[in-house]
Amino acid sequence: MEHPIMLIDMQSFFASVERLYHEIPSHRALIVSGAPDRPSGVVLAVCPRAKSRGIQNGMRLHEAVERCPEAAIVPPRMQRYLETSLHITSILEKWTNLVEPYSIDEQFVDLRASIFPSLQENPSASARGIQQNIFEETGLHARVGIAASKTAAKTACDLFAKQAPGGIFLLSEEKIKQEVWPLPVDKLFRAGKKMTVHLRNRGLQTIGEFASLSHLEVRRRWGIHGQVLWMNAHGVDYSPVQKHSAHGKRSIGSGMTLPRLYSHPRELRTVLLELTEEVGFRSRRRGLRGSTVTLGLQGPSCGFHRQRKLSAPTANTSLLFEEVLELLDEFWDLSPVQRVHISLSSLETDLDFALHLFEPPEKQLQRRELDFVLDALREQYGKTALLRGSSAGAGSQALDRAKKLGGHLR
Ligand SMILES: [Mg+2]
Repeated sequence: MEHPIMLIDMQSFFASVERLYHEIPSHRALIVSGAPDRPSGVVLAVCPRAKSRGIQNGMRLHEAVERCPEAAIVPPRMQRYLETSLHITSILEKWTNLVEPYSIDEQFVDLRASIFPSLQENPSASARGIQQNIFEETGLHARVGIAASKTAAKTACDLFAKQAPGGIFLLSEEKIKQEVWPLPVDKLFRAGKKMTVHLRNRGLQTIGEFASLSHLEVRRRWGIHGQVLWMNAHGVDYSPVQKHSAHGKRSIGSGMTLPRLYSHPRELRTVLLELTEEVGFRSRRRGLRGSTVTLGLQGPSCGFHRQRKLSAPTANTSLLFEEVLELLDEFWDLSPVQRVHISLSSLETDLDFALHLFEPPEKQLQRRELDFVLDALREQYGKTALLRGSSAGAGSQALDRAKKLGGHLR
């Protein structure tokens, strides 16, 4: 493998951190619960031992205690998890210059930026070294997925390394076809539930069946989102591992070169919405929000890069998209566009989002129901039906724009 990228995932992260801190012996099951003294509390994280007794995240604490009365129950401490996560980043940075925290317990590593060139040559041995290093310094176990791209490394970790005895799996290009393609299509990285159902309804049961469609057909049917999924199915992902600390990332951006020159506002807006969704998704995924939106457009006879400052930081797709449209209206002279780019900067930790990690499951369920309703609306009225609801208070301009957009996306 020419340029191995790794995804390092911490095993049962919250529970493992608590086990060490409270010095709970490894043979005793451990449960992290937001309200350990109340039987009505809810299980937030479990160790593998508790899991093997049938205890799951979101379960009522009293039910968990019935199943495993001897389990230790401790409260969660977000701050400690964040600190430990940053510590692991600093350990990884001793191996290579390119470390990208992806979530609180997952980090991408690119060994090309290592001061030890030999590390690239034997990625599996390097992964063992990294695993051991993390264990020695923190007492925590890491699993490592290795592949030629970020999404393939994530797949290698989630679908294989977590089950592998040593916790390491190298997913080569040949293995993508052999091992990933026979899997059901819902295992495809980032294929949401709706998309999965969609693909099933079209008779595509496995990842391989989807991957075997022609690139053009995928683009025609599912747009950019479909293209990205199709590339995931092939293990292809051109996004580089980007160095930043969990708190210090300067901006989150997404851009693309268009398949042809775009000069119609409608089609440009469609692409911009998809890019904004990507930026919003990635910000939320990292627990970040920002207060500066930048739009960049480039064409044979035009080109600009303009920013807008938001009144309050956000990672909400519709709020971000409103700003993008303002920028478009203000600075685009309707000349043909070849390249588009959107980014969100002036980032800060979205504490509300961080707290969602500890939200009771009932609330999360309510949110999922809301998502479901919104998805249904999108299905019926077009993707921007979502914008109408969330910008209802933001003035009729946004509403008007959303209406103009609706119906052109599907
Ligand atoms: Mg994990």
